[in-house]
Amino acid sequence: MSLNAAKKLIKDLKRKGHQAYMVGGVVRDFLMKSKFSDIDITTSAKPYEVMKLFKTVPTGLKYGTVTVLYDNAQFEVTTFRQDGPTSDFRHPDSVIYSDNVNDDVQRRDFTINGILMDDYQNIYDYVGGQQDIINKIIRTIGDPDQRFNEDALRMLRAIYFQSKLGFIIEEETKRSIRRNRHLIQELPMERVHTEMIKILKGEHLKTALESMIETGLDEVLPGLEKGIKYAATLDLMPYVDPFFALAFTLNNGIVPAEWPFSNIHRNKYQKAAELALKTKEFIDDVNLYHYGLEISILANKVNAFRGIAKHAEKKIIAAYEALPVKSELDLALTSQEILDFKNKKPGAWLGILKKQMIEDILLKKVSNDKNSLYKYLESKA
Ligand code: ATP
Ligand code: MG
Repeated sequence: MSLNAAKKLIKDLKRKGHQAYMVGGVVRDFLMKSKFSDIDITTSAKPYEVMKLFKTVPTGLKYGTVTVLYDNAQFEVTTFRQDGPTSDFRHPDSVIYSDNVNDDVQRRDFTINGILMDDYQNIYDYVGGQQDIINKIIRTIGDPDQRFNEDALRMLRAIYFQSKLGFIIEEETKRSIRRNRHLIQELPMERVHTEMIKILKGEHLKTALESMIETGLDEVLPGLEKGIKYAATLDLMPYVDPFFALAFTLNNGIVPAEWPFSNIHRNKYQKAAELALKTKEFIDDVNLYHYGLEISILANKVNAFRGIAKHAEKKIIAAYEALPVKSELDLALTSQEILDFKNKKPGAWLGILKKQMIEDILLKKVSNDKNSLYKYLESKA
């Protein structure tokens, strides 16, 4: 992302008589000398004026945001706004455009996200954000109770910034999260899910999990309470998939329906928890076959985090590679050969027999070659 292109864009806006600044993550990360991902620009220009001046995509018109494509980069350009009251704990009922940049700063979430920077890299800080960056503090702009009631997601955003930056959450802000934590249940789970994943990817996850416990946020995230409490005691943090699999294992294998996981992820967590609960140190060949390599590795990670198994990814891969059969297609006898040998018509019995055969091969009761399997069939007659 190019700071220079952003400065040029700001100059263009100013030349047309508008005010414009960089704001949010880019300024925070710039002051911390760390990498930033996207550049937000706030301007007095109304969306239609921005759209007249540049090549744009109307990504968030309802809230005054357009994406500007400029110098091979893209920028989120948002009109100064003053958010009206909210009745749903997440979206302002209306947004009011403003000519005063301070209105726009005041509607932002945390002081560290409310600092402005112009095209000369001058800093304008109306909220004490610079001092909070120096002291590594996450603090709401204005009264935290009010700010969390306007948008309950901000409580999880506080945890996210802690996980990302390693800052501490200021006491009053933290107490307010504790008081208002139940409002999380009013949010659409998609937003909670997205924020939770951002939290889990942070470098300072352990501290973030500790704050979740301290504020009681763990209690309002379906099925995660035990996982959060447990993971917070670990030295090595589980990454996203192992975290969810661990949490749902500790939740008696239940993946609450509220979480909008994709079917693939839901199945992965469900199966891994099921396998983790029924195995300890060793995942035997029968389970390895039935659950497959990916789930087996995940279940092993879960049990390693639970302290009842060793991390054994390499061993599991080797055991999987060495399985005498990995699917029905690997049977040394084809269905036709079984039918011919048995001299019977196909039916449900065939599937049942093949399953039994595979199980016995995995249990090393018979080996997977034609001769042995014909003898096996004879014995089953
Ligand atoms: P990141 O590094 O995660 O991108 P960011 O600070 O840029 O951090 P964004 O989610 O990209 O965070 O939002 C950009 C800016 O918009 C924030 O810095 C903040 O000023 C404002 N903002 C975003 N979400 C909210 C919210 N829910 N309430 C108030 N202000 C918000
Ligand atoms: Mg951002």
